[in-house]
Parts: sequence; structure tokens; C-alpha cells
Amino acid sequence: MKIYNSASRKVEDFVPNHPDILKMYTCGPTVYHFAHIGNLRSYIMEDVLEKYLRFSGYNVKRVMNITDVGHLTSDADEGEDKMLKGAKREHKSVMEIAKFYTDAFFSDCAKLNIKTPDVVEPATNCIDDYIRIITKLMDTGYAYFAGGNVYFDTSKLERYYIFNDYTEDDLAVGVREGVEEDTNKRNKNDFVLWFTKSKFEDQALKWDSPWGTGYPGWHIECSGISMKHLGDDLDIHCGGIDNAFPHHTNEIAQSESYLGHKWCNYWMHVHHLNTNDGKMSKSSGEFLTVPLLEEKGYDPLAYRLFCLQSHYRKSLVFNWENLDNAMKTYNKLIGRVAALTPKGEAVDEEAVTALKQRFDNALGSDLNTSLAITALYDVLKYDTNEDTKLKVIADFDYVLGLDLIKKADAKRETEKKQKAVEGEFTVIAEDGSSDPQIEEKILARQAAKKAKDFASADAIRNELKAAGIELTDIPHGVKWKKI
Ligand SMILES: [Zn+2]
Repeated sequence: MKIYNSASRKVEDFVPNHPDILKMYTCGPTVYHFAHIGNLRSYIMEDVLEKYLRFSGYNVKRVMNITDVGHLTSDADEGEDKMLKGAKREHKSVMEIAKFYTDAFFSDCAKLNIKTPDVVEPATNCIDDYIRIITKLMDTGYAYFAGGNVYFDTSKLERYYIFNDYTEDDLAVGVREGVEEDTNKRNKNDFVLWFTKSKFEDQALKWDSPWGTGYPGWHIECSGISMKHLGDDLDIHCGGIDNAFPHHTNEIAQSESYLGHKWCNYWMHVHHLNTNDGKMSKSSGEFLTVPLLEEKGYDPLAYRLFCLQSHYRKSLVFNWENLDNAMKTYNKLIGRVAALTPKGEAVDEEAVTALKQRFDNALGSDLNTSLAITALYDVLKYDTNEDTKLKVIADFDYVLGLDLIKKADAKRETEKKQKAVEGEFTVIAEDGSSDPQIEEKILARQAAKKAKDFASADAIRNELKAAGIELTDIPHGVKWKKI
């Protein structure tokens, strides 16, 4: 597979470190609020990556953290604690908030067919791991104690900025306006590893440490959790583009200083979901969540398809019209798969190989999901039997996660029931789509024919023809198409 590595800023061949295991790490959610569908775009694309790697034969072990402590409203250690903010807003305890929004996150993921990683670890479970890392960083001079907190000293590094060409002067980035500068820091880039002098008197969660009672900084948790479950190296680390700086930059700084060698080989960043008027945020307009999509009548998997239709390294514009289009495409796709019926024929292995090659070429080129969708349409058009097509679609859908087989089976069942009601008469569209208005007219024509009212039957046929619909009588039914 070829993948764009944000660390080298090049498309590279993906070569894992070990023959028997592929180590993948994903930054998880800060569970103080519902997940925004923009954040879920990252999890969808990471899910496709994981499943494609498994489809390609790799033994993937994927780990994800749940941030339930230490993440301040600014990613650069400033502002209020996000968890505490959530707890205050809802008059609940921090742990109640964490539990509620962790459950909500996984409920969204299930609806979007995002597989739960092999290991999901709440940050509050690994305090000893952070203390071990910070202790060594203190001992080796990479960290210092100032004003009650432990900071990482970025001036000790030969190269701090990995994903961009910032200089210290650019550091307005990542720091919110109106937030007081932390004068304890020796360098602007320095970041907190351990807070003891909490800015918040009522900080709910505190632990003992060699530097006093306090709590970990946000960045240290991903290094600690990754090393706890995946050891001293990592093949691929994923996250939203927002996380590249300062979060991932700081993860690399502390991990490599602690380990004394390179930590992670590949970095994958998923770009923003934007609205028409700019970047999405919780403060602008509607707060878009999976339950809101459902409330408005959209299948969450139509949103998944919408995300797959474009490349993860491009910003994606979300509006309701775009989602409507994705929904239509999704329904049509299910209709076309439902139009294929298993007949128990032998699978055409040659066709399977040829079709899989196209799919593999698409996803193997820096996870080109829109090309993978094209490869899916190629299956529908391919000159082979329907059993073969259904087998290949099932294989592809393991990666794409659109529930195509399941939904097509359900659609076929419904059609069967409909047929039982209407007798031995079926109405099908040549492209597998459905249109209740047209179907109703065709059924009315059939009723007229049955009553030997051929004039009315012909009138309906002509009316449809004038609207660009052509009918073909087939045994026990009618096939229609748009001309
Ligand atoms: Zn992280």
C-alpha cells in the first residue's frame, strides 16, 4: 500500500516494522460533549484504513484512548478543563459525564459501522504509565518543574516541528486569543506533562505523583497508552488534521526523548469537514450529530458514503443538499444490489481476481475511497454471474462498511412480501432504483388490463412514455427504465 505520511510529507510505501503484527494508534474523543459529525469523519476514514489493512492480510492491533482528564479548552494547555466544563454545564460529576459521552460516542460509531478498536483505554486508567515516562524525562533533563507544574523543554530537541515549518514566532497558532500566557514556560512551545498547581480549585480528579498531587497533561496520555499496549514502536498513528499541531508534535517530542529512538513511522491525518461558510465548529449554527441526522430522516450510513466519496486529505464541504445526494446514491446502490439474486452458481474466480485488483489498486493508492466506490460500481456492471457479484460486493463491503448485502437482503424480503400481496406481479426498475409514483401507475395499468380495459391500460403506458418512462412486459411483471 502507498500512503501519504504527514511526517515526511510524501506518499510512501507502507512497510510495517514486524511481520506478525501491525501496530495502529488512534487519538480518541474527549468525552465531554456529543461527537460532531466532522470529528466522526476522521473515525470513519481510520476505520476504512484499519479494515483495508486487515483485508490486505495484516494482523492489525489498534489502540485508542478516551480522554477523560487533562484536556484543556485550548490544545496548548490553556483555558478550562473540558471535562470539568461539561460536568458544570450538566450538573453532573466528571465521571458521570465521561461515562455518558463515551457511551454516546460508541453508539454513534456503531451506527456508522465504525469497528471498536481492539483496545480502548480511558486516560484515567494509566496514571502510573505517565508518571514513569515523566520521571525519566525529568531524570534525563527533557523536563523541568516550574510554578507547580512539570513541563517538557522543547529547546532540548534538535527538531521540534515535524508536520509543519512553524517557528516559535508562529505560535499564535494553537493558542486562543484572550488566554493568558503561561509565564512558567521557558520556551513558548513547552507543554505541560503534569499539572500539580491546578488552575481549578475544584479539579475533580487528582493523583499523587513525585511532583505533588495533580493530573496529567493531555499529550502524555497518548504516548503512555500507546506504549502500554503496543510497546516501544508504532507503525501508524492517526488523527484529525487538528491534532497534528500541537498534540501529535508533542507526542513525538516526549515519546522519542523517552525512548531514545524513533517512535512512529507513519502519520495519517484526516482533513476538515467544512460547511459552506467555513470550518465547522460547535459555535457556528447547528451542532451536527449522528442523532440529528437520524432525526432528519437520514440513514447514518448515507453520511458514511458521503465521506467515502471524497479523499481524506481534502476538506469536505457538508450541507444538507450534499447529504440528500449521498442518500439518493445510497438508496440506488442498495436497489442495484437487491436486484442481484443468488442462484447458487459457481463463483467465477477469474472475475473475482480482476475486480478485487481494481479495488485494491484504489485503496492502495493513499486510501482513494472514491475510486474504491467506482470499483464497486464496476462489479455491478461486470460480465459475470450474480453469485460472483454478490460475493465480491460482500468482500468490498467489509472495508466500505455500507451494509449493502444486509440492506439488499431486507429490500428483497420486502419486495417478496409485496409480491405476495399483489399476486404474481412484480414491478422492477432496470437500474434497481424505485419510484413509488411510477410503480403505482404500472400497477394501475395492470389492474386495467386484468379488467380488460385495454384503452385505459394503453393510456397509462402512453402517459408514462411521454414522461420518459419505457415499460417492458416480462413474465409475471413489468420492467421499467428512464429513456
Ligand atoms: Zn492523541
